[in-house]
Amino acid sequence: MKVLKFGGTSVGSVASIEAVLDIVKHSFDNGEKPLIVLSAMSGVTNLLTKMAENAADRIPFEDDLKFLEEKHFEVVKKLIAVKFQNPVFTKLKLMLNDLEEILQGVSALKELSLQSKDLIVSFGERLSNYMVAKIIEQQIPQTEFIDASHYVKTNSNFGNAQVNEELTHQLIQSLGYTHAEKLMFVTGFIGTNDKGRVTTLGRGGSDYTAAIFGSVLEASAIEIWTDVNGMLTADPRIVKKAFSQPILSYTEAMELSYFGAKVIYPPTMIPAFLKKIPIVIRNTFEPGFPGTTIQYESGKSSFPIKGISSISDISVINLSGSGMIGKSGFSGRLFTLLAREQINVVLITQSSSEHSITFAVNPDDASKAVKLIEAEFELELEANKLQVPVVEENLSVLAIVGENMKRTPGMSGRLFYALGRNGINVRAIAQGSSELNISVIIGKENLAKALNAVHDAFFAQLKKTLHVFNVGTGNIGSTLFRQIHEQHNFLVENSDIEINVVGVSNSRKMLFNSDGIDLTSWADELEEKGELSDLASFIDRMRAMNLPNCVFIDNTASKLPSTYYEEIFKANISIVTCNKIANSGEYAQYQKLHETARKHGVDFFYETNVGAGLPIVRVLKDLMLSGDRIVKIEAILSGTISYIFNNFVGDSSFYETVKQAQELGYTEPDPRDDLGGVDFMRKMLILARDAGYALEAADVDLGAILPQACLEASSVDDFYAELLKADQYFNALKEKANSENKVIRYIGKLEEGKVSIALEMVDENHPFYALSGSDNIISFTTERYKDRPLVVKGPGAGAEVTAAGVFADLVNVGA
Ligand code: ADP
Ligand code: ASP
Ligand code: MG
Repeated sequence: MKVLKFGGTSVGSVASIEAVLDIVKHSFDNGEKPLIVLSAMSGVTNLLTKMAENAADRIPFEDDLKFLEEKHFEVVKKLIAVKFQNPVFTKLKLMLNDLEEILQGVSALKELSLQSKDLIVSFGERLSNYMVAKIIEQQIPQTEFIDASHYVKTNSNFGNAQVNEELTHQLIQSLGYTHAEKLMFVTGFIGTNDKGRVTTLGRGGSDYTAAIFGSVLEASAIEIWTDVNGMLTADPRIVKKAFSQPILSYTEAMELSYFGAKVIYPPTMIPAFLKKIPIVIRNTFEPGFPGTTIQYESGKSSFPIKGISSISDISVINLSGSGMIGKSGFSGRLFTLLAREQINVVLITQSSSEHSITFAVNPDDASKAVKLIEAEFELELEANKLQVPVVEENLSVLAIVGENMKRTPGMSGRLFYALGRNGINVRAIAQGSSELNISVIIGKENLAKALNAVHDAFFAQLKKTLHVFNVGTGNIGSTLFRQIHEQHNFLVENSDIEINVVGVSNSRKMLFNSDGIDLTSWADELEEKGELSDLASFIDRMRAMNLPNCVFIDNTASKLPSTYYEEIFKANISIVTCNKIANSGEYAQYQKLHETARKHGVDFFYETNVGAGLPIVRVLKDLMLSGDRIVKIEAILSGTISYIFNNFVGDSSFYETVKQAQELGYTEPDPRDDLGGVDFMRKMLILARDAGYALEAADVDLGAILPQACLEASSVDDFYAELLKADQYFNALKEKANSENKVIRYIGKLEEGKVSIALEMVDENHPFYALSGSDNIISFTTERYKDRPLVVKGPGAGAEVTAAGVFADLVNVGA
């Protein structure tokens, strides 16, 4: 025989009950001799609890009672033939009348004992099982409704009763004999004590009922039918990428459920384990899916862990005292005391100096635990051998679980790296001696982020998701979005990352969506649904969303975003930017930003600060990291100036060449912004700093291209007038170059810690001689590249290549 247990969500509605009917019939027709255990309809146990509490406070419960009646009657009306409905209505009504009377009693006494509460919630399972049994009876006449409270005998610990195994075994066994040919529908969750008072087995206890019946009746399997595809690698409500594990050992399942994986109630594993009966978790709504089998062997897996689970709300109690803790018998006294008072200790850690013990309990138990400790250790407290216990609240436990951990080194390293990189502070750590789980205590506000980050870290074969917040949607920003969209499939197939743009802002509007903004319609959406933008609140929101693996992209040319960089790094968010302002401001700021990023373990990538998408910053960094030393850097890093000098040949005048460059859109509205060399200077400054020199802008020797009068002209028109007058000066330069077989280049240089930029004439042996169009070029002479420098050359401007450079930086954050 088999036990099939269906949870609340499987009996929550007409449609789900129809799915249950199919599964039961199929099993019955296949000769599996199923025994069915059902929970209360979904939401009913919570509702009954609320009604009971309300009754004690004299808050009316009649509407809730009516709702409960209708919830069940609706199912009867839909699923039982009209001629059979009346007796079912009558029986349900009788049960509901009993319930009402009990609630009235509670209300009259204004008192709700745990015993009355158990009696009240037990109606949930009785109503649902009776009803569904009657529905099935129409097709399978040997169906029988069984009230398990007559068979599951427990102690009197109402709310969380312990089963009397011997007695229960006998009773269920004889039930098995007498009902051998029946299709039994058994209420989950409930039992009775020795006086026949109804008890419950703890929330989620129907699973346990199923295991108890399965074990006594020696089932071939205990199937737990629910609303997910098995035991998943993490709670699917928090971790979207969680996936079903095909096989778990009993111990793994126990640890995962003990640390919060609600899909199965931890005690369920014990009876099954003792009889080696497999437990199979399956999805009522996807019956073809094999689900998770929980068995003796943990099975092979390519992942080092089986899952991550968590308890979102715990309190931690710290005990310290040099005169006390660590002395033999102290821990024994402490934990015996807590056990005797039914306080469940979730986790314990003790510092190696043994001067403190930290343990976690359910928040409802914290103040009781403190009172008990204060009473038990009164003398020690008075004598100052023990400090007053300190309670910390709003904490969560996160646990990674898996038998493979035993054999794999570096598991805790991976866990702490993922947490650290995401700025999640670990308050306490415990590793079970079995090495089956490592649990950490963290702030509750960080739990969702931590679960996702740790999931990404351990299930690396899955895609790692980068959450991107982008400011600036001009040419580069919008090109970047298009590129990300176009490359999406390639990235998914060929790399381990997935990019999710979750926040976008320009100077007018901002938009957020933690599931990812659609990159084909972002512009319209931003316009239509966006809120008024404000950078400070954009950053607050980014922090508040608290997503793992976050990247802030600054695609603006303004100073404002850079004033937030430090704050952003402190929130453990990486930055990618094409904006040069932060790195070329004061050296102290440059240094501070780099240091902050390093301290927080996040990335600061700005490849596009120099030469757009060309690999320059990264090459320099790699040279430095590999221990090479920069002897000299020479570069042409202004596409505009390159263009102008490459075209200032033959008969053309300098004046005409500049005019033409402007008409073609190669220059800023005021060409002096390019020809003044300031932008070039900034790039050289950044390279010099990255090469290890603490320089300021004023330290750069910036040679002028233009005569003073051009620079001083008060308008663009005046500038051109002055430029026309300077033609002779430029022609003379050109002729000199021609006569020496040279070309004019505006070259930046870093040598011996000094940066200069000047007009030079170079001959055909110089690598910069043959530069064409608006290309950039840079040559690194280093100790390793001494005889022939390392040269990078290519297009150094334009939205397409710049966005591609930003994109490459982004992918590197994920790497
Ligand atoms: P039932 O009503 O069938 O007993 P429960 O609500 O008790 O169902 O348990 C199923 C739910 O457990 C799922 O819907 C899921 O949201 C939640 N859950 C939490 N952690 C996990 C996990 N690791 N694997 C599967 N489900 C989980
Ligand atoms: N109905 C009970 C509860 O909600 C038991 C169960 O569903 O397992 O806790
Ligand atoms: Mg459950």
